[in-house]
Amino acid sequence: MNSMPQTHYRICPLCEACCGLEIQTQGTKVISIRGAEQDVFSRGFICPKGVSLKDLHEDPDRLRQPLIKRDGQFVEASWDEALDEVAKQLLPLIKQYGPDSVAAVIGNPAAHKISLLGYFPRLARALGTGNIFSASTLDQMPKQLSSGLMFGHWLSIPVPDIERCDWLLILGANPMVSNGSLWTVPDYRGKAKAMRARGGRIIVVDPRRSETAAAADEHLQIRPSGDVFMLLAMVNTLFEEGLVRLGALAEHLNGLDTLREAIAAFTPERMAAGCGIEAATLRRLARELAGAKAAAVYGRIGTCTQRFGTLNSWLVDVLNILSGNLDAPGGAMFPKAAAFAANTQGKPGSGRGISTGRRSSRVSGAPEVFGELPITCLAEEIETAGAGKVRALICLAANPVLSTPNGPRLASALDGLDFMLSLDIYLNETSRHADVILPGLSPLEDLHFDIAFPQFSFRNHARFSGPVFAKPAAQPEEWETLLRLAAMVEGRDWRAEPEALDAPDSAGLRGPERLIDLALRSGPYGGATEQDLTLAKVKAAAGGIDLGPLQSRIPELLRTPSGRIELAPPALLADLQHVEAALSVPAPAFTLIGRRDIRSGNSWMHNLPILAKGPERCTLLINPLDATRLGLSDGAYAMLSTALVELKVRVALSADMLAGVVSLPHGWGHDLPGIRLGLAGNRPGVNLNALISDGDRDPLSGNAVLSGMPVQITPA
Ligand code: SF4
Repeated sequence: MNSMPQTHYRICPLCEACCGLEIQTQGTKVISIRGAEQDVFSRGFICPKGVSLKDLHEDPDRLRQPLIKRDGQFVEASWDEALDEVAKQLLPLIKQYGPDSVAAVIGNPAAHKISLLGYFPRLARALGTGNIFSASTLDQMPKQLSSGLMFGHWLSIPVPDIERCDWLLILGANPMVSNGSLWTVPDYRGKAKAMRARGGRIIVVDPRRSETAAAADEHLQIRPSGDVFMLLAMVNTLFEEGLVRLGALAEHLNGLDTLREAIAAFTPERMAAGCGIEAATLRRLARELAGAKAAAVYGRIGTCTQRFGTLNSWLVDVLNILSGNLDAPGGAMFPKAAAFAANTQGKPGSGRGISTGRRSSRVSGAPEVFGELPITCLAEEIETAGAGKVRALICLAANPVLSTPNGPRLASALDGLDFMLSLDIYLNETSRHADVILPGLSPLEDLHFDIAFPQFSFRNHARFSGPVFAKPAAQPEEWETLLRLAAMVEGRDWRAEPEALDAPDSAGLRGPERLIDLALRSGPYGGATEQDLTLAKVKAAAGGIDLGPLQSRIPELLRTPSGRIELAPPALLADLQHVEAALSVPAPAFTLIGRRDIRSGNSWMHNLPILAKGPERCTLLINPLDATRLGLSDGAYAMLSTALVELKVRVALSADMLAGVVSLPHGWGHDLPGIRLGLAGNRPGVNLNALISDGDRDPLSGNAVLSGMPVQITPA
């Protein structure tokens, strides 16, 4: 600790808000972490998770050395030994059973790491497997599908232009805690406060009075899974009451009359019971939306993880379009990312659009969406004998035993694999099943440039941060490991020097830096002039480069074959017929929903001291009236069950809950044998996903139904 303190700029990789951090170090120690005031995008904002990067870096449980399983026990190994073991076990399986015998799962942290997100496709191509799975089908795939069908690309997703918005309707999202999802908006709290101070109005729709609802002008307690009824009723009202105002979009739309006809039967009066919101309120909301100067409707994870996730995602943007707020300042707008955005490449204004179902899963016949299969199909693909059976798994930064429905089934399926490789920084509930674990770097040893989130940002920007600490000499970066694995599978010399696998460009750049520089130069702010963006310019700008507020992008952004916004995609209209049937399903006595905590995100965060301290977080929230009826008191234990499992959970009474709805957070259940998450094990919580069926999906997007599960509750 004799060296002088140093200050570093680092973009936080722990959630979608992508805050800039100022990290003070001395020698190899982190002295402090705070929000970077000079960051042009997050302007000094930080949440408790950002501070936990110190704990993550220093966590003695974080893996720093490869592990190989020998006689059922993990032993440390060198990188060469571990990769030799992968070659020895994986290659004969591929040779004997073909490419589809290997499945790959990529987890949520990969979205925050260019090394993984940028280089996983290389490995996937080398493997040639059709069995690709990811956390996307537990989360946002419905929004990606609806956006692809309407606008022509999977990642053309509009976000609220909150700094100019006057009226904001939020469904199934808690940005006060998340700081946005598919909407990168650090310090949502401050922006919402500013919006209300200038006379704006925020309405939140959620079965729980969430932190976002508590700070809004109005909270509507919707019945879980009732969003589709509410959204249909609002669209119906806009048509029926002559409130449709298309503005500049009028000449860029296809399917307006078809949509009007398809929606005609879904009146507020018929939909009210399905969503638990009075018809008069539904009509009022539609009128307010139509009458606001600048308005946006935003729906997120709660609207996606339902049977009608894709319809919900579509209807959110239909409302934005019909009220004249899509692509308009203060409405729902499309960011223009500086790099990596497909909607800034190719011919502006039209394209090939998207397609799904280019193949189907072997067992359930679930269609491929955006190049992957529903992750809820993984267990059956491992368990079911026959040609194409999954015999090996490569798991990248993923913990599906905790994060996917029916995790216990998946755990026992993993034990039936012939080989499993995990790339992970922890020995967790999933990686414990692996034969080899290859650790990644600490985020503080890695550079950072976001591929995905500038495409969903409330403002355009370009930011880069370098490593805070040098990485351990013997440890490769994740992208190098992925290139080695790809070379191994392709039968090339995977032991070659890194430069042989990825030669430097003319400027001496390799790996992710070369990708970033190329993407910036060929991006919408790149070019050949002095002012145009390059990696060197972004690196040189302290706190990044502000590229200004969102701008209108239609028709340039569109990549549909027609060159228009498709308002009435046939696949979505066909699914409307199932809404009628759902309307008559009676509400169960108790319905389970999830929730997000400011101190939690990925399951391994439960092992970080600064996030683990404080009150118990894995509790079952229940309305006090329901608790009294069941004979439950605050802090008591209850048995929570579905047909799959019965769990003992601690109860917390909360008047924020709608009667008949209970809430449990996900990512818990750290009491399984063989894991190395010492702190998390002290308060393991229970695995919400063990209760949830892996057979329930949105058939269009393949997304798991995680919200609105009927459950039984009895005192323990
Ligand atoms: S809001 Fe997200 S990005 Fe910002 S500090 Fe917290 S975890 Fe990091």
